[in-house]
Amino acid sequence: MTATLLDGKALAKKLKAEIKEQVEVLINEQNITPTMAVMRVGDDPASGGYARAIEKHCASVGINFRTELLAGDTSQADVESSLAALSAEKSVHGIMVLEPLPKAINTDALLAHIDPAKDVDGVHPLNAGKLSANRPPYFAPATPSGGIALMEEAGVDFSGKHAVVVGRSDIVGKPMAMLLLHRNCTVTIAHSRTQDLPAVCRTADILCVAVGRSEMVSGDWIKPGAIVIDFGTTYTDDGLKGDIEHESANAVAGMITPVPGGTGPVTNAMLLGNIVASAKATS
Ligand code: NDP
Repeated sequence: MTATLLDGKALAKKLKAEIKEQVEVLINEQNITPTMAVMRVGDDPASGGYARAIEKHCASVGINFRTELLAGDTSQADVESSLAALSAEKSVHGIMVLEPLPKAINTDALLAHIDPAKDVDGVHPLNAGKLSANRPPYFAPATPSGGIALMEEAGVDFSGKHAVVVGRSDIVGKPMAMLLLHRNCTVTIAHSRTQDLPAVCRTADILCVAVGRSEMVSGDWIKPGAIVIDFGTTYTDDGLKGDIEHESANAVAGMITPVPGGTGPVTNAMLLGNIVASAKATS
């Protein structure tokens, strides 16, 4: 068997074309220019690179972009009030706080100051709670939403499937598990303390891996014909690697996301879609 590749680049291209049309309608017919704002605290190159990448993606569909850059020694109270002020701006529709933040900043306390209606990456506790309770409208994080979109595009029937999600972060693993549960999968969440992880993975009809350990999962961890979603991104001397060892996995899986070109591009498209949804809802 050779797995069908779930082509993230192609899906992202299609989604971005649809989003671009919606942006044009908002600008031309409703005089609303969807606007994304990111907050950075301190001039860390990683958050600068991330800001530039988001700006580029926004520009590609006509979304306006701005950065709120605060000095690295800004106090928690001042960062929180700047974020609250940004949230209150009528012309701003989507907001993300970019990491890394200075060590002195309490990230959880800070993120509570994003208006949940503009929280386009689904990090506010209200959005996490609404996702968990499946009480729309809410924003789910872009990366797991992209994993779901890739499977939906391929016509996957979720109901009754056993899904194993490896990784339990608030931004990928946990929300992915919730999105699968709401589609009537039977969900197992695995993590660093899971015993006999290969055996657990082998029970999965849908195996989603969000760990960040290059090529951790090989073909003998995969049930023949399973759908495999690789969220991992690790930069190695051999280039960008996922959490799946693709050569052996491709011979066993039924469908699989490649790395690069799988979940990454779709994550960006989902974020853009959330910004447009927020512009429609909050204007
Ligand atoms: P985190 O570091 O926050 O979480 C990693 C998870 O993996 C934890 O739950 C941890 O378990 C688990 N884990 C670590 N080691 C093992 C192990 N040996 N066996 C089983 N589970 C293990 O990472 P993120 O969720 O933020 O990111 C995961 C990956 O996804 C990274 O490679 C990241 O770069 C990538 N990513 C990709 C995106 C995309 O667009 N494709 C976007 C965002 C992230 P425990 O909780 O027990 O510590």
